[in-house]
Amino acid sequence: MKPRFNIWPLVITFFLVITFQNIVQQSVALNQVSYDEFIGLLESKQITEVVLGDTTIKGKTAPVEGKPPEVYVTNRVDEDAVKMLSPYNVKFRKEVENTFFRDILSWVIPPLIFVFIWIYFLKKMAQKGGGGPGGSLMSVGKSKAKVYVEKDTGKTFKDVAGVDEAKRELEEIVDFLKDKERYGRLGGRMPKGVLLVGPPGTGKTLLAKAVAGEAGVPFFSISGSEFVEMFVGVGAARVRDLFNQARKSSPCIIFIDELDALGKSRGANSMYGGNDEKEQTLNQLLTEMDGFETKEGIILLGATNRPEILDPALLRAGRFDRQVLVDRPDKTGRLEILKVHIQRVKYQKDLDLEQIASLTTGFTGADLENLVNEAALVATRKDKEFIELEDFTQATERIVAGLEKRNRILNDFERNVVAHHEMGHAIMGMALKSVDQVHKISIIPRGMGALGYTIQRPTEDRFLMKKEELEGKICVLLGGRVSEKIIFNHLSTGASDDLAKATDIARSMVTRYGMVKELGHVSLERTQQQFLAPDGVKSHDYSEATAKEIDDAVKLILENAYLRTLSILTNNKQLLIDSATELLKKETLEGEDLTRIKGSIIL
Ligand code: ADP
Ligand code: ZN
Repeated sequence: MKPRFNIWPLVITFFLVITFQNIVQQSVALNQVSYDEFIGLLESKQITEVVLGDTTIKGKTAPVEGKPPEVYVTNRVDEDAVKMLSPYNVKFRKEVENTFFRDILSWVIPPLIFVFIWIYFLKKMAQKGGGGPGGSLMSVGKSKAKVYVEKDTGKTFKDVAGVDEAKRELEEIVDFLKDKERYGRLGGRMPKGVLLVGPPGTGKTLLAKAVAGEAGVPFFSISGSEFVEMFVGVGAARVRDLFNQARKSSPCIIFIDELDALGKSRGANSMYGGNDEKEQTLNQLLTEMDGFETKEGIILLGATNRPEILDPALLRAGRFDRQVLVDRPDKTGRLEILKVHIQRVKYQKDLDLEQIASLTTGFTGADLENLVNEAALVATRKDKEFIELEDFTQATERIVAGLEKRNRILNDFERNVVAHHEMGHAIMGMALKSVDQVHKISIIPRGMGALGYTIQRPTEDRFLMKKEELEGKICVLLGGRVSEKIIFNHLSTGASDDLAKATDIARSMVTRYGMVKELGHVSLERTQQQFLAPDGVKSHDYSEATAKEIDDAVKLILENAYLRTLSILTNNKQLLIDSATELLKKETLEGEDLTRIKGSIIL
């Protein structure tokens, strides 16, 4: 620690001295007496000396046989006291009352209030601005800010559900932190840093806290994004501070969230003019990481959702040399997470959590927490005593497709087009065997952009897809546009998103999955980290001629899918028209209605 000049002890001493003086002055034993008693004392000639204050009169008796003189005090009653006193032949004088303390306060307090308000606002600015110039200014030389410490996180592995594999890997670290001597016994070395990798909301922070909680050690945390745009040197100072603090309270966990914001590949950064601050901070972090021994009982946990853009130096041995994947939960995982979060709310006794879990493919832990909350709100709005399944379904829809926007009005023609468009998707979804089930069709506009929607739900989580399934997906996507073509003989803008998705799938089939015979089983394209583009670029290593072949192959896939869709929908034109009319009337179709429509499809 560098010595710092601190004015506060001085100020406090000053005030203490003044207060003390005042108290001493005022507390000389005074006998408070009434006015007439005072007069009585005066008349019996006991008082030999009188002091007149603005509001009081003090009278002092003569010392009697070694006894010290006593002072009597009474409130001053009239201005003519002087006249009154004169016949009694006593000494008297007027005292100027001690208002020094009062004056000081009236001088000092207003500026003090002002200063405090000022500091308060600057602090606020520093917090809000994060990296803004105001914030940085305040933080200079005061680098302790922004390091969050929790003595006890209160989280345990029980709070984290559905990520058993990650937990298993972290358990070792818990054991180590609990008893580091035993761990080093055989010369084994703990990793210094473990990188938690996974999409946002999957519980990486929660896991890190749980590790600290399980081991009963303090949890230091800092977020990489807070270093962005700070003045040069501040970030590095903070990192230094963080490690110093952590050393003092080891064993402990240091958690660096959003490590990618800080640890982006340095070379790539400087291509864009560089960011000295980030570079310095990163360098400091690397230095600190190298500077401590795991023996000291500090374990670094980092979190990122983009490990591929991290500076390779961070991942080297002795740094974040172990990675733990924290992925989106599968159905069982989602069920477990729901069980954790549902405890906070009142819900129907025999609520089918499994069904909710199967409706929420792709949800992260944070999404599920949000879902429980949202379902509680839905049920509350309906004045229910507890949450039921339908509240969950409604909340799911809301989260999936954005809030209902009934008030966004389409004209009749537009609604008609949207109904046929969605019905086109739906009929294709029901006609093809290899695609996800159609659960619901709606022409109620939701959220941004979508005029209607068709919800398909996979019957199970999918990790592998066959060529037929991908082709089926393309047909379903094209269904909307083809339907518009058949009924209105037009092309509209409503299908642009569908087209983009269909093209992406077709392109992936050609370039990544090697599904086109003419091009061979070759992966032609992959996302790669590159020196010049830190965010990763599609790199390809094929010639112009191959590029042309790829384009042709993509076009062919789309063309075939288009023809197939056209033929299926033309065969079912009457059904398309009838069901679209029904959809227009009811706005949403699901359950039995869909089963009936599916039953009348001609293949
Ligand atoms: P990340 O750090 O990966 O972005 P968080 O740990 O901040 O995600 O998760 C946000 C919240 O979501 C947590 O506080 C927790 O309530 C909930 N959550 C996320 N994953 C899980 C999980 N696996 N089990 C239980 N709750 C979870
Ligand atoms: Zn569409």
